[in-house]
Amino acid sequence: MTWDAIVIGAGPAGSVTARELVRGGLRVLVVDKSTFPRPKVCGCCLNAAAIGTLKQLGLGHVLASGVPLNVVRIASGRRSAQVKLPGGVALSREAFDSALVNEAVNAGVELQDGMCAKLGDCSPHSRKVLVGNQSVSTRIAIVASGLSGSDATPEAHSRIGAGVAIPPEAVPEFFVPGTIFMATARGGYVGLVRVEDDRLDVAACFDLAFVKSHGGPGPAAEAVVSEVGWPKIPGLAELPWKGTPALTRRAKTVAGERWFAIGDAAGYVEPFTGEGMAWAVMSAAEVAPIAIRATRQWNDLLAREWEMVHHRVIGKRQRTCRVVSRVLRSSFLTSAAVRVLSVFPVLSRPVVASLNRPALPRGATA
Ligand SMILES: Cc1cc2nc3c(=O)[nH]c(=O)nc-3n(C[C@H](O)[C@H](O)[C@H](O)COP(=O)(O)OP(=O)(O)OC[C@H]3O[C@@H](n4cnc5c(N)ncnc54)[C@H](O)[C@@H]3O)c2cc1C
Repeated sequence: MTWDAIVIGAGPAGSVTARELVRGGLRVLVVDKSTFPRPKVCGCCLNAAAIGTLKQLGLGHVLASGVPLNVVRIASGRRSAQVKLPGGVALSREAFDSALVNEAVNAGVELQDGMCAKLGDCSPHSRKVLVGNQSVSTRIAIVASGLSGSDATPEAHSRIGAGVAIPPEAVPEFFVPGTIFMATARGGYVGLVRVEDDRLDVAACFDLAFVKSHGGPGPAAEAVVSEVGWPKIPGLAELPWKGTPALTRRAKTVAGERWFAIGDAAGYVEPFTGEGMAWAVMSAAEVAPIAIRATRQWNDLLAREWEMVHHRVIGKRQRTCRVVSRVLRSSFLTSAAVRVLSVFPVLSRPVVASLNRPALPRGATA
């Protein structure tokens, strides 16, 4: 049997694409190496652009239990600035990803979880995907396997990610729901936010040397939070942290014969601006119509089309994020930015507006 589409990875990019493809009349298999619900290192903050795309796709209800976000508080040294960040939601990845997987399955997607997959060979009429130790035939494959499943090349000196969740009873009252707390220091930054079940999600981005010099991500995060003078979080250093591979990476190409890459698998920039899930769901929405055409008749121009659409919709947004992450590498520029924002928070508006900007209506040009 030949599937119309096999999607590798059931994170937000993969499950939203799979659902769109089934709604377009295709027979779709999604394979994920994890079983859901599964944790994922993430700041768990969905911005207005992500929420807008989910609503456009009829998926707004999956965010119903999320905690509405109002402000982000950024600290550098003993100074902090508070910036309005309207329209966002904090939702744990266990809840968010499972809800999206359920939506895909309810729409008719077949899910094979707990199984690794990778692209196999291509023949004139189909592509093979290796699912576990079986070779399965499909008209097209969607690579949505995130950072860990990506062959995108990490940039030199790219930072790594790490995360942990603090149980509600251990969370100091200081970390109120509705605020994103960002503590920055020379070796990286730590984001903290209350999610729907009152846990404190902690997600960090560090230089590898900084983590090594502190003896692990927990003590490194504790050092950053203590440097900005925020309350000590019991267990922060000792809890079992999860790590990620190098974060900032560019894909050599985002498409090839009978395959398209989306979400983090198509390239990623470190997460300070909290946009990764927006890029994931936007790329899912944009790739679906191209993939549906590709199942009818493959044409190499479809790979080129996805490269151009991906560049227009995602590449431009990633540029803003690159600039912000470069500023954060300099402790001088970071503390200058925090000093200016603490006096003139209104200056953050253009960046916030650009991050929250919805995707263009499909088919429109920039
Ligand atoms: C520290 C940190 C903080 C972040 N904070 C935010 C934030 O606040 N807001 C935001 O929007 N984004 C944030 N992000 C980014 C966000 O987590 C990602 O951009 C988003 O998860 C990308 O979705 P995806 O579907 O492409 O990949 P993923 O969510 O990584 O999903 C990929 C899936 O593929 C599966 N998989 C991998 N390899 C295989 C394989 N070979 N076979 C089968 N399955 C496979 C995995 O199990 C996983 O389920 C953050 C990231 C980090 C590291």
